[in-house]
Amino acid sequence: MTSDAPSPEDPTPIIEARNVSQEYRLPRTKLISRRPTLDALIDIDFHAMEGEAVGLVGESGSGKSTLTRILVGEERPNAGVMNFHGKDVWDANRAGRIAFRRAVQVVLQNPRASLDPRMKVGASLVEPLRSLGVQVDHERRMYEVLDQVGMSKEAVHKYPHEFSGGQLQRIAIARALMPAPKVLLADEPVSALDVSIQAQVLNLLKDLVAELGLTLVLIAHDLSVVAYTTSRVAVMSAGRIVETGAPADLFTTPKAEATKLLVDAVLTVEGGLAGQALA
Ligand code: ADP
Ligand code: MG
Repeated sequence: MTSDAPSPEDPTPIIEARNVSQEYRLPRTKLISRRPTLDALIDIDFHAMEGEAVGLVGESGSGKSTLTRILVGEERPNAGVMNFHGKDVWDANRAGRIAFRRAVQVVLQNPRASLDPRMKVGASLVEPLRSLGVQVDHERRMYEVLDQVGMSKEAVHKYPHEFSGGQLQRIAIARALMPAPKVLLADEPVSALDVSIQAQVLNLLKDLVAELGLTLVLIAHDLSVVAYTTSRVAVMSAGRIVETGAPADLFTTPKAEATKLLVDAVLTVEGGLAGQALA
């Protein structure tokens, strides 16, 4: 229960959504009716401390990707605040906005959609440095980051179609690491991958937290995926966070109905990550 409390050393979370709500306007159903709205997020409190690996789990449509877009500053919430180092990112000056954009990077589900098929990997890797105006030796940084994700230097001369899904997701992670972010958000990073390589990519994410001191927010619909990789997990259901706790506690004593359903879904899957998460 205390797992949600900030650490005593530095009580300010590196990223924090406080009382965040997000409402989407839907198309009119009749010519002269009001446009209906959908409450995608309702009064969300979510944070990550520096160096922490936090999980966000919930059924499809529960609002995980909407919250991810708010946490990276891609969408402004209708209500509530999005803080970076305790400061509202939508209230920041230009320098503050650039620092936030550089510090918080995201990896998405499908690396084939996030990497341009017509660009060599090297060009894709350098692109975030250019768009963020990061002054570093491009080549050195590429090789450093490829090494961190377990890929060889030769990758820079190849096109995305020359790689497997798992290799491409490593490259997408490398691209996100290029500007030396403090926080990595990974929205369903293994759900498009073969089960046999999911653990490899999750191990890579764990290693990055341990070795680089990165803050990780791992988003998934599968409780075993976040339990395997993170030390604190928030459970979402229908736009709300319904429970937060240590993975082992969520498995053994789930309180919210949504958590119980996620546990049942894991336990019906033979072997795989479920066993390792519980080990
Ligand atoms: P998850 O990632 O957990 O599957 P999402 O955040 O993608 O959930 O979606 C949450 C809810 O918000 C869903 O009902 C979805 O249809 C709706 N939604 C998401 N984005 C938009 C949008 N841009 N316009 C309208 N509705 C949206
Ligand atoms: Mg999603």
